Amino acid sequence: MAICVSVRSATVKEAAAAVSVAQEKGADLVEVRFDLMSSPPTDLAPLKTAPLPKMATLRSKAHGGEWEGKDEDRLRLYRRAARAGFSLIDLEIDSPLLGFRDRDLKKVEVVVSHHDHEGTPPTSRIIEIMLLAGARGDLAKGAFKVNTVSELHRLVHASKLLSLTGKKFVLLGMGPLGPITRLRYRRLGSSMTYASLEPGKETAQGQVDIASLKKMENGIITGITGMPLGHSFSPSMHRAAFEAMGIAGTYLPFPAQREELPLLMELMRDLDIAGLNVTIPHKETVMEHLDRLDGNAEDVGAVNVIVNQKGRLIGKNTDVSALAQAFKAAGVDVRGKRSLIVGAGGAARACAAFLRRDGANIVVANRTRSRAEEVARRFSGEAVGLDDVKGMDFDVVVNCTPLGMKGFPSQLPIDPEVFHPGQVAMDVIYNPERTPFLTEAEARGCKIIPGREMLIYQAMDAFEAWTGQRPPYEILAEAVRKEQE
Ligand code: NAP
Repeated sequence: MAICVSVRSATVKEAAAAVSVAQEKGADLVEVRFDLMSSPPTDLAPLKTAPLPKMATLRSKAHGGEWEGKDEDRLRLYRRAARAGFSLIDLEIDSPLLGFRDRDLKKVEVVVSHHDHEGTPPTSRIIEIMLLAGARGDLAKGAFKVNTVSELHRLVHASKLLSLTGKKFVLLGMGPLGPITRLRYRRLGSSMTYASLEPGKETAQGQVDIASLKKMENGIITGITGMPLGHSFSPSMHRAAFEAMGIAGTYLPFPAQREELPLLMELMRDLDIAGLNVTIPHKETVMEHLDRLDGNAEDVGAVNVIVNQKGRLIGKNTDVSALAQAFKAAGVDVRGKRSLIVGAGGAARACAAFLRRDGANIVVANRTRSRAEEVARRFSGEAVGLDDVKGMDFDVVVNCTPLGMKGFPSQLPIDPEVFHPGQVAMDVIYNPERTPFLTEAEARGCKIIPGREMLIYQAMDAFEAWTGQRPPYEILAEAVRKEQE
């Protein structure tokens, strides 16, 4: 198992300097991408004494590189590389030079590569390609652009099957879902992974820099699934927590269609993904694919966090515990309080679960009355119409609709006459920080709790469930503040 730093440089001299840096950073070998140099070099002497094993690559334009020359010129360069101590050369699977072994090239091993910059074909086709590549040289290498969870699943499945052959191979993903295949290359059975020398010097999409790769060798992978994965604050919060706490971990997006959920769950186990956030529209549909639900997820009928406990996938709902912590931090005890929940979706159910558990009296008002009735029934509350709340008196009012959220109408979900001094008003919306609901409630003398609090506490609970360590509130709050700017 080896880390190969793929060197992008303008000259041979620069490449030689990069090899020394790669060695310092812990690389096992380097690939010199001659096709990315300003012109193909004639003098490779500076690389002769480079301190790591070297691979020469002159990737053609047709295979995603920059080389447009003739095969004779490529042969000439590879011979020169062999004489300069290169122990490996890369040839594409359809190269006419495959099988050509003269005095110089007899000394080198041939990596036979296939690149697909469009997508990942079915597993059977990947296997076909890899077996053919293996038969044509010393090491088969396949790199496929991984666009979707289904494609990632194909690649991981192919890796499992190739591992059974006992032959060495390199199978990697490029593109949006590529990085995880590079971080988990050992688990996938690849004998090598490619890394960039530093961020910004990648030679392929989805490549990770060597420092991050080394740090993540046994690191914790977490992420988020949903469709579409719009702008979420979760990556910033969790990445900030990993960074500040010095935990080797990363947070990646896994956009998935509903029918891809079982594949994603299998990938969580295969790729050792410690946990995922689940967002719209999978919070309910994902439940049937999990091994167990915790009490809050059962109560709410929705999962916003999955925890991988040694291959057993546990569904949690950290929105419920987050609401409890947000109210506690604000010094509000809801026991016996008459509470109005506006809305009847997932956030409203989480709110109802918290309020019921903490002994509040629940009233649910929603645009669609039947949905309010459903929530009221489930959590032993009362359902009313949105217009009915005007003459009613509440100690606590919680907005659980998206009205006032960025991208939604900037309007109040209920008549402002409901607000009065001494009341507690919470809005679960966190973007913007100050919604029309909160502004109006505050102006009318209410104590307000912003949705940001719930957002931060649900993330703290998720992070703790995945890593065993509780992140500091302030780190996550700072990440949210930056997102809200
Ligand atoms: P959801 O399941 O889609 O439910 C949305 C609710 O809002 C439904 O009851 C819907 O009424 C109502 N609604 C939507 N548009 C409306 C309109 N124009 N007028 C009146 N009512 C309307 O959504 P959700 O998952 O509960 O999320 C709701 C909000 O909570 C989102 O803004 C989300 O970002 C936020 N949230 C925040 C946190 C946090 O950590 N702070 C956590 C979870 C969710 P109908 O039943 O009539 O369609």
